[in-house]
Amino acid sequence: ENVVNKIAAGEVIQRPASALKEMLENSLDAGSTQISVTVKDGGNKLLQITDNGSGIRKEDLAILCHRHTTSKLSQFEDLETISTLGFRGEALCSISFVSHMAVTTMARDAQYGFRVTYKDSAMEAPGPKPVAAVPGTTITVEDLFYNVPTRRKALKSASEEYGLILDTLGRYAVYSAPGVGFSCRRHGDGRPDISTTAAGSRLDAVRAVYGADVARELLPLALAAGGGTGPEVPVEGPLGIKLEGLISGANYGSGKKTVLVLFINGRCVECAPLRRALEGVYAALLPKASKPWLFLDLRLPPRQVEVNMHPTKREVGFMHQAEVIEVIRGAVEAKLLASND
Ligand code: ADP
Ligand code: MG
Repeated sequence: ENVVNKIAAGEVIQRPASALKEMLENSLDAGSTQISVTVKDGGNKLLQITDNGSGIRKEDLAILCHRHTTSKLSQFEDLETISTLGFRGEALCSISFVSHMAVTTMARDAQYGFRVTYKDSAMEAPGPKPVAAVPGTTITVEDLFYNVPTRRKALKSASEEYGLILDTLGRYAVYSAPGVGFSCRRHGDGRPDISTTAAGSRLDAVRAVYGADVARELLPLALAAGGGTGPEVPVEGPLGIKLEGLISGANYGSGKKTVLVLFINGRCVECAPLRRALEGVYAALLPKASKPWLFLDLRLPPRQVEVNMHPTKREVGFMHQAEVIEVIRGAVEAKLLASND
């Protein structure tokens, strides 16, 4: 049974960056405004994430890593309109099967915190140990895949894995700004590689993550269903698209490959056909420019989005894909044409 569990865990958690993504989403779901990550050896040796969110109550700690333990989904029907990033209760369970995992947490209204370690989805004896703490949660994941040699072998070098960690964290830092600050550093390094503050603007976050050259040249992109702006705009027709973003223009000069930071309904996802369509616009309009940089915050009617398509939730499916892509492509094209005049 443990073999099955380890295989299942490997589908959800494929590498350090995917473990981090799940934990970042948990911290965001917990209402954190500051999230700090420390990494050793590309996340193989250590991946530690500290947040100032709701914390976890003592009575919830025993089952925290049981499969399908989730505080976020009460009825199956909720899946269609789920507003939290997590909903399956798979992530911590999976991580506990393939690492040495410890949780230190203090609920907001508690007097002190607790420290617990987990193995194979179970809390280890003797159970929650009271510790001095500040409100929030620290999750420490050590020796990821120590017991799954095939996964270990499939990983890239420590510096490449660390690059993927920075990429994941950077996307959330941009999307969540302003409101949530992030930092990421290598264990033992004083200076973080990424550092954003909760009060900083989105452009500040872009500057901190992707550099001043990118931030300097961005064009704002905006589009709403029915021509309106606020979230109260009624959804019209089959599309009901809302789109906000920042895109590189003609003077952007430092990209060697396309960066598409894509969030659909608050989830960080990939969409290869959309990427191709956008690259096509840039290639047609700005053939001499370097590879584009785009941040897109796309909202679709929740019922048109399939969030549970893939174990890592990385690829999102949505209805009317070709039409939706065409609307976005058209908006980007119009923006680039207007800014070129
Ligand atoms: P899911 O996010 O799908 O609910 P997870 O396995 O990712 O499942 O997490 C299980 C549960 O643990 C969550 O529902 C949440 O109640 C709790 N939890 C995990 N991380 C945190 C955190 N950083 N702060 C507060 N609660 C957390
Ligand atoms: Mg989760």
